[in-house]
Amino acid sequence: MNLILLGPPGSGKGTQAKRLVQRYEIPQISTGDILREAVKEGTPLGREAKRYMDEGKLVPDEVVVGIVRDRLKGLDCQKGFILDGFPRTIAQAEALDRILGEMGRGIDHVIDIEVDKEELLRRLTGRRTCKRCGAMYHVVFNPPKADGVCDRCGGELYQRDDDKEETIRERLRVYEGQTAPLVEYYEKKGLLRRIDGTGGIEEVEARILKAIGDKG
Ligand code: ADP
Ligand code: AMP
Repeated sequence: MNLILLGPPGSGKGTQAKRLVQRYEIPQISTGDILREAVKEGTPLGREAKRYMDEGKLVPDEVVVGIVRDRLKGLDCQKGFILDGFPRTIAQAEALDRILGEMGRGIDHVIDIEVDKEELLRRLTGRRTCKRCGAMYHVVFNPPKADGVCDRCGGELYQRDDDKEETIRERLRVYEGQTAPLVEYYEKKGLLRRIDGTGGIEEVEARILKAIGDKG
């Protein structure tokens, strides 16, 4: 199954992608995670990307398209994949269509997770991530058992640099301007599945499974 998770920052794409990975045994391809890893390692890609990420702007299309093109060639993507945070512009969506077309593949469903702006702000300001395994928490909505420590691996939890209120507001503006037009793009192709992203994590997951025709 080839899935795209669309939706604004904080809508729960990463949280839901990790659950779908377990269920379908296909990889999550998060361009945000790949870029953050490059920043951490201090590679040339990381150094270029950091300038944009710190300001809440999008990294240039050709950079992220190159990342995804390479990643989709991975053997682990043969059974399917979950794109999380890509595409984010019409140009990226068109490039993805070309890349998949050349591979003789296509997208099965595009899940648009809808959450209002106030809730997005609450979610992003309280988000914490495990440094070691990438597990996601929220200080109020999904807290770890011990403060600052990952339940799963004992790793240290941290707050992303771009989860500061000012940067969050810029990321939401960028989403409205550059990414929201993808809703119509995929609607026209008959691939869009709109999901109410409010309520509990399991409730949202159940809505996604229903929308993609998984009867469990
Ligand atoms: P995205 O990948 O779309 O930016 P995340 O999956 O990182 O979003 O979720 C953002 C924050 O919201 C995280 O702290 C996560 O724990 C929390 N979260 C995710 N889904 C829900 C939900 N259904 N209800 C409340 N909080 C949620
Ligand atoms: P995310 O983890 O998806 O919230 O992404 C964090 C940041 O990485 C974004 O604010 C962008 O700066 C950058 N980024 C991630 N994915 C993309 C993409 N598809 N296109 C451009 N920039 C991206």
